[in-house]
Amino acid sequence: MLTIERGLEIVMSVAESKDRPDRMAAESVPLSESISRILREDVFADADSPPFDKAIRDGFAVRFEDLAEVPAVLSVIGESRAGAGADVRVKSGKCCEIMTGAPLPEGADAVVMVEHTERLSADSVRVLKSVRENEGLLRRGAEAQKGDKILQAGRRIGLADLGLLASTGKSSVMVSSKPRIAIIATGDELVEVQESPQAGQIRNSNSYTLYAQALEAGAAPVLLGIGRDNLEDLRSKIGQGIDYDILIVSGGVSMGKYDLVENVFAEFGVEVQFDKIAMKPGKPTVFGHRGQTYVFGLPGNPVSTIVSFHMFVRPLILFLLKAENTRPRMMEARLEAPAKCDPERVALVPAVVRFDGGQYRISTAPWKGSSDLVGLARANALIVIPRRGGTLEPGETAQFLPME
Ligand code: AMP
Ligand code: MG
Repeated sequence: MLTIERGLEIVMSVAESKDRPDRMAAESVPLSESISRILREDVFADADSPPFDKAIRDGFAVRFEDLAEVPAVLSVIGESRAGAGADVRVKSGKCCEIMTGAPLPEGADAVVMVEHTERLSADSVRVLKSVRENEGLLRRGAEAQKGDKILQAGRRIGLADLGLLASTGKSSVMVSSKPRIAIIATGDELVEVQESPQAGQIRNSNSYTLYAQALEAGAAPVLLGIGRDNLEDLRSKIGQGIDYDILIVSGGVSMGKYDLVENVFAEFGVEVQFDKIAMKPGKPTVFGHRGQTYVFGLPGNPVSTIVSFHMFVRPLILFLLKAENTRPRMMEARLEAPAKCDPERVALVPAVVRFDGGQYRISTAPWKGSSDLVGLARANALIVIPRRGGTLEPGETAQFLPME
C-alpha cells in the first residue's frame, strides 16, 4: 500500500506534468475582497515606509545629548502633530511637543515620552528621564524603502499583507482565479440535512464538510447532491461533474458490493493512479485524472473524508492556485499519553494540543473511529502516529497536523 508521502508525490507529479501553467488565470479583485486569496504579483513599496522620520510616542522631540543629566528643563518651541509637522529647528536646550505619527522636526534625534515629563509652563518642560539616540522614533525607510519587494507572488494574503497592500496604494490586487470543484455524495442511506432520517438512514454531512474545506483552500465548490448506489445514478452525477477542474465523490469506494464509484470512473475513462493509501482513517482514497479534470474518490466515513481531503485534495488546490506552500502543515509536540502504533498504516488520530510550559503538548482525544465527528469536534489537531509496531511513549516527540 502507498504511503501518504508517496500518494501526495503522485498527485503533485501528475499535476506538474499535465497541468497548463496558466490554468488558473490571474484575476484582479478589489483589495477589500483579497483576504486569503493567493497573490499572483510581486508587490513593491511605492514609497519609503515610514515616508518621513516619525514619532512613535506622544511627548517631546529632543536632542538626546541635552538629557545626559536629568531632570533637565527644556524650552518648548513648537508643536508637531500627525498630518502637520512643525516648521522649527530643535537646537540645544530646546524641544518640540510631538504626537505619535507626526514628523520629527529638524535637529531632534529622540522623542521622550510625555509620561516622563512635567509641564512647567506653556513654553517649558521638565524632563525626568534620559533617552538614547533614535529612541521614540522611526527613521524614514526603516520598515521598507521605495522599490523594495514587500510581498512575493504565491503568498496567501493574510491580514498584515492586506494592510501592506493598502498602505502601498494597491486598491486592486492580482490573485489566482478559483478552481471549480464538483462535490458528489453517494449512498442509498443518505438524506439531506433538512430531512428526518427514517430507519437505516443518516444525514449527508460530507457534502458540507467538503464544501467548506474547498472554500477554505481557496476553491469554488459546487454541490451536485447525492448519487445513489446504482450505476445509472452514479453515471448521471459523475457525468455532471467530470468537466470541472476537480471532481470529488465521497463514499462508494470501499470493498462493499454497492461501492460502484470506481466502476463508473473506469467507464468515463478516468486514469486511476491509486486507490488505497496506508493511512487510518482514509485508506480507500482514489485519485485519477481524465482530460483536464482531477478526480478523487474519498472514503465515505465523515472523519475519513475530512482527513483525505486535507492530505490530498487541499495540496492539489494550492498547487493549482500557484501557492508557495502546498503541503499539509506539520508541527511537533511532546506526547503526554501513550499512543498505540499500527504496523500497517500511519494513523491520524484526533488529538488535543495545548501550549504549556514553553512547548506544545499533545494527547489523543476520546474517539470512536472514522465515523465519529463528535470526537473530532473535541479535538484541535490530528496526531501522526507512525506506521510501526509498539507504542509511542509519553515524553516522545510526536508530529501533528493543526486542524484549526
Ligand atoms: P462508504 O464509503 O460508502 O462505504 O461509506 C462509509 C460510511 O460512511 C457509511 O457508514 C456511510 O453511511 C457513511 N457515509 C457515506 N457518505 C456519507 C455522507 N455523505 N455523509 C455522512 N456519512 C456518510
Ligand atoms: Mg456508501
